[in-house]
Amino acid sequence: MSDDLDALVSAIVTSTRTVVLTGAGVSTESGIPDFRSDSGVWSRADPMEVGSIDGFRENPQRFYDFWSQFFEGLHGPDGSRPAPNKMHRLLADLERRGKLGAIITQNVDGLHQDAGSERVLEAHGNWRRTRCTRCGHQSGWREVMAETPRGNIPSCDLCGGTVRPDVVLFGELLGRAFEEARDEVKRADLFIAMGTSLEVAPVSSLPVLAKEHGARVFIVNRDPTLQDRHADRVVRGELGAIAEELATRLAARLATGLGSVEG
Ligand code: ZN
Repeated sequence: MSDDLDALVSAIVTSTRTVVLTGAGVSTESGIPDFRSDSGVWSRADPMEVGSIDGFRENPQRFYDFWSQFFEGLHGPDGSRPAPNKMHRLLADLERRGKLGAIITQNVDGLHQDAGSERVLEAHGNWRRTRCTRCGHQSGWREVMAETPRGNIPSCDLCGGTVRPDVVLFGELLGRAFEEARDEVKRADLFIAMGTSLEVAPVSSLPVLAKEHGARVFIVNRDPTLQDRHADRVVRGELGAIAEELATRLAARLATGLGSVEG
């Protein structure tokens, strides 16, 4: 891992436009389980019933019951919410230093924003937001659920329409954020995919798109991914340990060597 990490550090230090794609592996250290893992959500619930647009339309009550329970389970015994971890904070810091152009995330947890990242393209939406299926009005999941008596389906304050989570459900196409994500990738000179197995299309096509537009491509993940053959370099390891190492090595390089790079 060490040589590969050094290569990644050098690539970040010399890049003028880095774009990072993040997946579930980046949030597991924050206590948010990977939905697709052996013990994840989809091992105990049917994604067609509680994760798809058809399932939502067919039985919104079942959908809301399941997700309300899921969210309650994410909170600590003291009611605390999941918090950003070292990798989220490192990426936010790189953006502040002008070393990171954008984050594209498959995660719907909002933790990049909590860490202070500003340019975050949420390819799959954000589960903390809801939107009205009739007028499009957006609101916060917690606020909406707090106003909705148990056993009821939330409705819009403005028009009374059915309220849905503002995430991309199975059976739906990705929205505008993904178009913007593709544009960011085309402009990048360094593309890093981290914590994602790159199994879910069309996000899985981004490493190849980056390559085609001349970027160096790094894949950082605990397990092999389906796109490893398209990467210039693969860094394998636990994301928590990698974040720790990266932060230390980048701090040293950015403090000493970056001045000349940034002019
Ligand atoms: Zn409405």
